[in-house]
Amino acid sequence: MLYSDIASVFDKTERTSSRLEMTAILSDLFRTLEPRTLRSVVYLSQGKLHPDFFPQKLGMSDKLVLKAISLTSGFSENEVEKLSIKEGDPGTAAELLIGGKKQTALFSEPLTVERVIKNLVLIEGSEGKDSQERKMKLLANMLHDSGPIEARYLCRIVTGRMRVGAGSMTILDALALSFAEKSDRPEIERAFNVTCDMGMVAETLASGGMDAIRNVRVKLGNPIKVMLAERLPSLSEIMERMEGTCAMEYKYDGIRVQAHISEEGVRLYSRRLEDMTNNFPDIASSLKNALKGKEAIVEGECVSVNAKDGRMLPFQEVTHRRRKHGMEDAVKDYPVKIFLFDILQTDGEDTTDLPYPERRDILSHAFNDSDNIVMSHMQTVNSAAEAETFFTKALSDGCEGIMAKSVAGASVYRAGNRGFLWIKYKKDYHSDMTDTFDLAVVGAFYGMGKRKGRYGALLMASYDREMQTYATICKLGTGFDDAFLDSMPDLLDKYKTAGKPENVDSKMIPDVWFDPSVILEVTAAELSLSPIHTAAAGVFKEDAGLALRFPRFTGKVRNDKAPEDSTSVAEVMEMYGMQKI
Ligand code: ATP
Repeated sequence: MLYSDIASVFDKTERTSSRLEMTAILSDLFRTLEPRTLRSVVYLSQGKLHPDFFPQKLGMSDKLVLKAISLTSGFSENEVEKLSIKEGDPGTAAELLIGGKKQTALFSEPLTVERVIKNLVLIEGSEGKDSQERKMKLLANMLHDSGPIEARYLCRIVTGRMRVGAGSMTILDALALSFAEKSDRPEIERAFNVTCDMGMVAETLASGGMDAIRNVRVKLGNPIKVMLAERLPSLSEIMERMEGTCAMEYKYDGIRVQAHISEEGVRLYSRRLEDMTNNFPDIASSLKNALKGKEAIVEGECVSVNAKDGRMLPFQEVTHRRRKHGMEDAVKDYPVKIFLFDILQTDGEDTTDLPYPERRDILSHAFNDSDNIVMSHMQTVNSAAEAETFFTKALSDGCEGIMAKSVAGASVYRAGNRGFLWIKYKKDYHSDMTDTFDLAVVGAFYGMGKRKGRYGALLMASYDREMQTYATICKLGTGFDDAFLDSMPDLLDKYKTAGKPENVDSKMIPDVWFDPSVILEVTAAELSLSPIHTAAAGVFKEDAGLALRFPRFTGKVRNDKAPEDSTSVAEVMEMYGMQKI
């Protein structure tokens, strides 16, 4: 198959903002592909060669890509760089400079999907001396036989910034449309949520149909999308929703970790599927040594503790473990415990379909005693008064609140879902809000006065899952200390774009735009209607969206969340509804 056929489909999806149209375009392509090729094309459409959780990444630097464009096009590196800065994307620069070459090149060979994949595998595997030069030449080799559109997407794939706009949900829609019934869509999504591998799901569906999809189970080594909690404004409402009885656990304020433990070793994944094994080597080895069985997948929260008395320390302490270098010192200086709260697989048996009480029982017998492995503190609660006592104790023990968990027969582990089987309740002394917001930075305003020469305020957005856009919700200028103000360019500038990113919905125009990538935790006094912001625009009032009043940065950069995990517009609407009660 020619790569140009695929590149032209990427181009068509990029040109439409309608999710329905995007689904139809992708589905037309998917139907024509062999299952194995489909798998690769699904990864490529997301700018990858493998699922997200694979450690290997293509990740070529912009500089190297510009060099390859220069070599192929005959334009100087300086000229290519200028154009790339102007367009805000090396891919567009390649498109403009490499266009037309294909027809005149004497020794050009057709660029097939197979050849693209073979070269990308070589780029990914290049290591050691001269590897940069080799990568650059492999890319140039493909660009030589590319037309403009093919060149655009080759450069985007190798830098990992596809910008096609088709998110995971659209790809799932397209797969259902190509190979199944509309009503099968939730089952296909379940298969993705328990494996986090869209390519595998596509290949399984195309080759084995829905029967094969129903057989997809959790698998050691494939991180599972995490189950998430809903919120309610009071403990009495939580008890009512739980029909009078539930399990309550402490809500620990640390880093969520999913541990895949086997005889070969342990891998720890963050909630955004990054491999964190190197950040918690002590926890990894304790889990392996203390596991009674042969293998298991468990979840817990890693929390920093005081070395002397074992008391829990604030969230900021555990973030010292996120560093890349000097881990040996960090392990000594910042001791950590893992508080386990769920089990998803044990000795080959998928436990996600078991109700919570059964999972909890299995979990509580799964490990031998160990200093840094602890079961989350849990109690069965039967009234709002008991819930209140448990909550107060959780706060005095240094937790941020409680997690109420359903004990009903249907209380399965719902991978990738936020629902009322788990309900969180947190202390929030700043306001009457039920929760903090995790928002994506989409822009910055230059500072004035004391903040002159730095970014003074940020434009923040919430993710609209339906529209697959980031809608603005506040301008954030409070809660930044000097250290954070100084660190902003390092944190944000790599995501700068030439103009407003396609997927940002904003009426405000900041001085600098960013691709939504960095997530900050924000508190606020309340949600109010605003003519300036676009979150839930027109839902509660014509010409108005929802905005945060008196937003304040809490100091937490949520490295553990991907931009699509930011507090969604649907959640914001729900919180606005609760606030009015
Ligand atoms: P938050 O920002 O409040 O941590 P979140 O969006 O990360 O929320 P939620 O599902 O809303 O995720 O809240 C649950 C989070 O709380 C989990 O992701 C986990 O990191 C943490 N947590 C701490 N203790 C527990 C517990 N006992 N059971 C489940 N999750 C817990």
